[in-house]
Amino acid sequence: MISRQFPFERGLMWFRSDLRIYDNSALYRASTHCKEIASIFIACPDSWKLHNEGDVLVAFRMACLHELQAQLQVRNIPLYFLEVSTFSQVPQVLQEITQRLKIDALFANAEYPLNEQRRDNAVRDVLTKSGVEVEYFSDRTLLPPGSVRTGSGDPYKVFTPFKRALIQLCAESETKSLPAPRKIAPPDKGAYWPKWLALSEGKKLKQKMPGELSQYTINTVETGVVKGWKAGEKAAQKRLKVFSGLVSKYQSERDFPSLDSTSRLSPYLNCGAISIRQCVNMALNLNQGLWQGGNNGIACWISELIWREFYTHLLVDFPRLSKGEPFKEITDQIPWSYNEDRFACWSRGETGVPIVDAAMRQLNETAWMHNRLRMIVASFLTKNMLIDWRWGERYFMQHLLDADFASNNGGWQWTASTGTDAAPYFRVFNPYSQSQKFDPDGTFIRKYIPELSSLNNKEIHNPPPTEGYPKVICDVSAGRQRAIEVFANLK
Ligand SMILES: Cc1cc2nc3c(=O)[nH]c(=O)nc-3n(C[C@H](O)[C@H](O)[C@H](O)COP(=O)(O)OP(=O)(O)OC[C@H]3O[C@@H](n4cnc5c(N)ncnc54)[C@H](O)[C@@H]3O)c2cc1C
Repeated sequence: MISRQFPFERGLMWFRSDLRIYDNSALYRASTHCKEIASIFIACPDSWKLHNEGDVLVAFRMACLHELQAQLQVRNIPLYFLEVSTFSQVPQVLQEITQRLKIDALFANAEYPLNEQRRDNAVRDVLTKSGVEVEYFSDRTLLPPGSVRTGSGDPYKVFTPFKRALIQLCAESETKSLPAPRKIAPPDKGAYWPKWLALSEGKKLKQKMPGELSQYTINTVETGVVKGWKAGEKAAQKRLKVFSGLVSKYQSERDFPSLDSTSRLSPYLNCGAISIRQCVNMALNLNQGLWQGGNNGIACWISELIWREFYTHLLVDFPRLSKGEPFKEITDQIPWSYNEDRFACWSRGETGVPIVDAAMRQLNETAWMHNRLRMIVASFLTKNMLIDWRWGERYFMQHLLDADFASNNGGWQWTASTGTDAAPYFRVFNPYSQSQKFDPDGTFIRKYIPELSSLNNKEIHNPPPTEGYPKVICDVSAGRQRAIEVFANLK
């Protein structure tokens, strides 16, 4: 019988990239609309592999799930875990699970890459037919993709007017954060939710998080730390608090990779251990409610958060971005290089250009790279070596802890000048002058390339032959010139 207070007797919260209990739209709705709630996470390792999601990303996600489970337990909300191989199996297993657990309604926060949208539509179709209500929420972005439009109703393709329109819409609505779900009253008699369920085809739904997963090495999960990054919502909140004391200097310091001057919240935002609204609200509280103006550092940080928003909205408006296609179709005519040896040197941080190599070593060693360096290494790969941006995009997806399809695709297409509102093709980053400007005394280079540590501050950016360090693998200025010509000749 459905109680008067709650429209649904039993709800199921389906966690994906929203691994937190505070300010989680779908979870909050489940808790206010259902008398009882269980939750589920479904791992799809074959689909994740196909999307180039790497070991570190998956290990971090699993470690966040561990923490989430403990938080949910306190509120009497069980978290079930299930592994299937691909997204295509999800509708059927959810149908079986909702029937077996007598679920009335499923709640989830929307995910935007094309295959994820297709999976969610299929789930909605199947469950609705079997009488289960399905509710998806817009939670990953400040405003739902598709809701920020030009006067003529088109999507924005340029960042600055998009930002202006988004700010105006946000200022009109509320960006308030939601509380955690209520503590669910324990059942009157006996255990209400089973500890595990045997499903068809030998699958098992369990409340115990696994110590391993097909296709992935996730043995770092137990410690809750992945490559030095502490997983989970509490760690994310702690980082936000620390950064609130640094944000006022963000604009002047954010481009220097040797300084710890950016938020390093990207891995948490990506797996949803923190919400975009919590980040914006921290900034607005410190800036007297101003989205623009006020403190330069805070306004600049808000602007960066809106770049994330811009790329996610573009992904929904332009499905071809999910299919490996460039935003500017004409750039598909570029005779990209597929030189595997050069690509391997770039990946390992052995190009002979110190700032590029130090950056790639930072990525390989810490699973994160500073934004200025992402632009420098992407420009070096796609312009100086003219290697297809999709190779770099894939490598980043496989190795970044914050690998996010929308922002990664946007960042690569911006740097390769194939994207919308991208870097003009004739403005190619010079890795040596970037190095002199943003790592003037070579502190960052010395940290990741100890072979060069004895060089002076001038030599370190473009070193003479040095034992143990490779010679530069390409002609940097000839490569730049060739890229400009190739782009200029596109018809
Ligand atoms: C080639 C390339 C690939 C990238 N791949 C990713 C990726 O896979 N995942 C990812 O989250 N970011 C990506 N970025 C954007 C940016 O480099 C990172 O978001 C940022 O370095 C993360 O560090 P932070 O959290 O300290 O950022 P902060 O400087 O503190 O910024 C706060 C947040 O704003 C967002 N943000 C900042 N800059 C950008 C940007 N240029 N584009 C989109 N969002 C931004 C991020 O969510 C970030 O956490 C990429 C950029 C480039 C040039």
